[in-house]
Amino acid sequence: MPVRVKIDRSRCVVAHFCLFYAPTVFIPSEGGKPAIAPEYAVNGFEEGVVPDWLYEQVKEAERHCPSRAIRVYKE
Ligand code: SF4
Repeated sequence: MPVRVKIDRSRCVVAHFCLFYAPTVFIPSEGGKPAIAPEYAVNGFEEGVVPDWLYEQVKEAERHCPSRAIRVYKE
């Protein structure tokens, strides 16, 4: 089941927990804010679809993001 991931960059406070917990999905971009890695990105770099085996990683990133800028849900 694909997993959709969204970053609300306006909420991001550049804490970088997402890069730590899911480094294959979140990559640093301009201003230090994260972007979705190109292989998973859809509709630009703030939204992506990742395979199921990455669910726990992106969920950990969602849980630890201090500004609740990350949303993860199964489709
Ligand atoms: S964990 Fe949240 S606040 Fe920190 S860089 Fe990632 S999206 Fe931004």
